[in-house]
Amino acid sequence: MERSDTVASDPALKSVEDYEPLVGAEAVERIMAKAARLHDLHVVNVNSTYYGGGVAEILSSLTLLMNRAGIRTGWRVIQGRPDFFSVTKKMHNALQGGDINLSDLKRDIYEQVVYENACRNHFDHDLVIVHDPQPLPLICHYRKKAPWVWRCHVDLSNPNPDAWAYLARFVERYDAVVLSLPEYAQPIGPPQRFIMPAINPFTTTNKDLSEAEIDDRLEHYGIPTDLPLVVQVSRFDKWKDPRGVIEAFRIARRQVDATLVLVGNVATDDPEGQEIFASLCSCREDRIRILSVQDSALVNALQRRAAVVLQKSTREGFGLTVTEAMWKGTPVIGGRVGGIRHQIEDGVSGFLVETVEQAAERIVQVLKDPDLGRRLGEAGRESVRERFLMTRLMEDWIDLIGAFEP
Ligand code: UDP
Repeated sequence: MERSDTVASDPALKSVEDYEPLVGAEAVERIMAKAARLHDLHVVNVNSTYYGGGVAEILSSLTLLMNRAGIRTGWRVIQGRPDFFSVTKKMHNALQGGDINLSDLKRDIYEQVVYENACRNHFDHDLVIVHDPQPLPLICHYRKKAPWVWRCHVDLSNPNPDAWAYLARFVERYDAVVLSLPEYAQPIGPPQRFIMPAINPFTTTNKDLSEAEIDDRLEHYGIPTDLPLVVQVSRFDKWKDPRGVIEAFRIARRQVDATLVLVGNVATDDPEGQEIFASLCSCREDRIRILSVQDSALVNALQRRAAVVLQKSTREGFGLTVTEAMWKGTPVIGGRVGGIRHQIEDGVSGFLVETVEQAAERIVQVLKDPDLGRRLGEAGRESVRERFLMTRLMEDWIDLIGAFEP
């Protein structure tokens, strides 16, 4: 494909070289040298939504960066009716430890829709990377000519045994499995590798904003800025514990005055979101704003203006929103679970909490002590620069792909 001048000047289409001020010339040179060895390769990613969750967020940036570095990297999205996504959301929940009744009907819907997607997707690639449980059984329908990797993003620390026993039959067919953390490893045949996600600092969600741009976005949604903002940005999902956030905020408000903003979106592969959003609406009040909207600039503005960002998840494979807020120098309070425990160093680059009461205590502490918030925020930003930018993620993938090369 020839790149037109318009595409080449698109500010979102950053190259590895654009990261040099952030990661240094040595890293850029090393990554480009590794990428050059994979120039003839054709890689494809398969997932189940174009937007609305961390996987889509990662793929939209990573695939562009890989292509800019000369590795031909595609992205396919499987299609399905709401009943398919209702089943796969239950599987997703079960992989994070929830209950599931894996009836024959659910298995039939799941396997049939994946089969239909296999019929219309033809893979002639050097590597196929399949993300999460939705497209997992695709592998059953091809004569495999290249390695297939299953990349599971969910918190697999304690999967429902029935769900895992069923899905493991598909997982066993893969050549490798990539998980976010060693503690998610499972007793399976394929080799397991561990790669933590990362963020793109140049996207609408993460790029620098002026104070006027932030004001403008907040004003657009009528978000009051007279008091400090306490913010959580998340899909409306039970594992993100939005009710716990509201409870913690109410407790904290006995000691400090602030406004809570819960903003979330509903991904096309997450049919529970709408219901959870509706169930939260009764909690709305003057100082508790709950918005369901897909606006990356609003996410950016909120994460920047917040006095403190919460991510009070009770399961979290890796919380992109945590890293996004830390990148903006904003102090973050995260649930002591899954990937968040590796993203936040407790008391140094944010706080980790286990209960609503602890979350409330930390909100009060940060709001009463802006210097503490600044220190946590600065340490948080530096830790993201060192560990969680997209170039590091790309290098991890290049190393993994390189290992498959003869
Ligand atoms: N996000 C968004 N709008 C929202 C809520 C979330 O753009 O209203 C983005 C968020 O900025 C992040 C991603 O969706 O990039 C969510 O990723 P995360 O890993 O935090 O959670 P997931 O949805 O994958 O469980």
